Amino acid sequence: MSLQTRAQLVDGFQSGLVSSEGLIAHGRGEAFDYLLGEKTSKFSVAAIEAACCCLLTGDHPVISVNGNFAALCSTEIVRLSNLIPARIEINLFHRSAERERLINRELEEKGAKNCLGSFSNNSNIIPGLSSNRRIVHSDGIYKADVIMVSLEDGDRTQALVNMGKKIIALDINPISRTARTADITIVDNVIRAMPVIIHTISMLKREKSIEYMQDIVRHFDNNGNLANSLKLMRSGFERL
Ligand code: ATP
Ligand code: MG
Repeated sequence: MSLQTRAQLVDGFQSGLVSSEGLIAHGRGEAFDYLLGEKTSKFSVAAIEAACCCLLTGDHPVISVNGNFAALCSTEIVRLSNLIPARIEINLFHRSAERERLINRELEEKGAKNCLGSFSNNSNIIPGLSSNRRIVHSDGIYKADVIMVSLEDGDRTQALVNMGKKIIALDINPISRTARTADITIVDNVIRAMPVIIHTISMLKREKSIEYMQDIVRHFDNNGNLANSLKLMRSGFERL
């Protein structure tokens, strides 16, 4: 894993964007990236195409942002939200008003306008979840039909799926509960996946019809995608 990525997260931690738990989650991600050979696989490319089709055909797509995602990809998050277009909602597992404010500032520095979060004062509750992490914005995650999540927790992913939302997960661990519960899982490092997602969204908007995109989403097989990604990791073990 690149030292620069680690430095970005440590900077994010020191400036209050990233939680201490976020650093642990990143370490877990690095282990899986090692097995992927630190490369974007063809299965990830296929999942990215399906994810982009889903985002572009949604009525109300939302990008959910936490500390790690903001520390690693703020420029790409803002570009993606403008391109789709999709709302950005800051939604933290280890919630604090201060960390929300800092993440919002980081995104605004990259050009984001009107990010949603619990500071926006119009919240609603995800049913079936306890504690603060059930609080979401009424015009964001609560109303969304398609939500992109990254480094997400399995319980919340399940609760959002139970609400009937389509979930796109960026998760490099193909056996996490999030990866297995989501509708489309991009088994890749967010650092590598985000530029590919942006490129794919631009290409689809330019070249493909709504019908084409709906068809791709309808035929995407996430269990097959996860099994293929796992096989690739197993061959990573064998190679080593
Ligand atoms: P779950 O709750 O879904 O079972 P978990 O409890 O193992 O997952 P969490 O800490 O809730 O893990 O979520 C973090 C997830 O994000 C982990 O699956 C981790 O592998 C993954 N992850 C960490 N860093 C990255 C990264 N840079 N890119 C993509 N995924 C990452
Ligand atoms: Mg978890």
